[in-house]
Amino acid sequence: MKKGLRLGLVFALALVTVVTFAACGTSSSSSKEYIIATDTTFAPFEFENKDGKRVGIDMDLLKAIAKDQGFKYTVKALGFDGAVQSLESGQSDGVIAGMSITDERKKKFDFSDPYFDSGIGMAVKKDSTITDYDQLQGKNVAVKAGTEGARFAKENQSKYGYTLSTFKSSANMYEDVKSGHSAACFEDYPVLGYAITKGQPLKIVGDLQAGNSYGFAVQKGKNQKLLKMFNAGLKHLKKNGQYDKIVNKYIKTK
Ligand code: GLN
Repeated sequence: MKKGLRLGLVFALALVTVVTFAACGTSSSSSKEYIIATDTTFAPFEFENKDGKRVGIDMDLLKAIAKDQGFKYTVKALGFDGAVQSLESGQSDGVIAGMSITDERKKKFDFSDPYFDSGIGMAVKKDSTITDYDQLQGKNVAVKAGTEGARFAKENQSKYGYTLSTFKSSANMYEDVKSGHSAACFEDYPVLGYAITKGQPLKIVGDLQAGNSYGFAVQKGKNQKLLKMFNAGLKHLKKNGQYDKIVNKYIKTK
């Protein structure tokens, strides 16, 4: 009796496995659903609106490009470092996360055409007396793991003599500055500017650092079809005015 039950279970499991594989086979051959990883909170590029919907320039561009090119996708908000790691390990097919196109990253990833120009800025608390990088001596600076801001902070650490705290999200980084634990944070300036216009009690001080433009990334040599579709869709959106419409929805440019 017991043996029969076990055999039955084994058979049922085998059947489930066969059915699952068959289902996967048909779905992937007809229309692949790409997994696109992104950051959690990087407004105005990706963030949750008050209805709990993930929106922003990256999210809207991806949606419009997918519609234009006719591909399906699911978004996974993993944080910046998490998104890049998931792409590197092949758990996702692409990353759109305000990801700067750098020579270092080009060794591991293929990037789309650039779609937004950016760079790094320093933000301090609104009432802070710090006005420049050379006043960070002996202070603490907050950065986000795996970002260009974190790289810039590390490169200049001995020059300015600060300590570093690394956070997973921009929100946690801003909290650390607001609490006074960190005297400043380094972050992409369009994102800092947007946070300030939305009421974060911060201000940008010191020189802005010219940075690299944002691109959509896939694993090097992989998902080239997806990359081509992204570029073709982006081109269409720029031509038909949809790109400007999306950007202007979030950032008022004059
Ligand atoms: N543009 C920065 C980078 O690529 C930050 C991206 C982000 O925090 N989402 O490192």
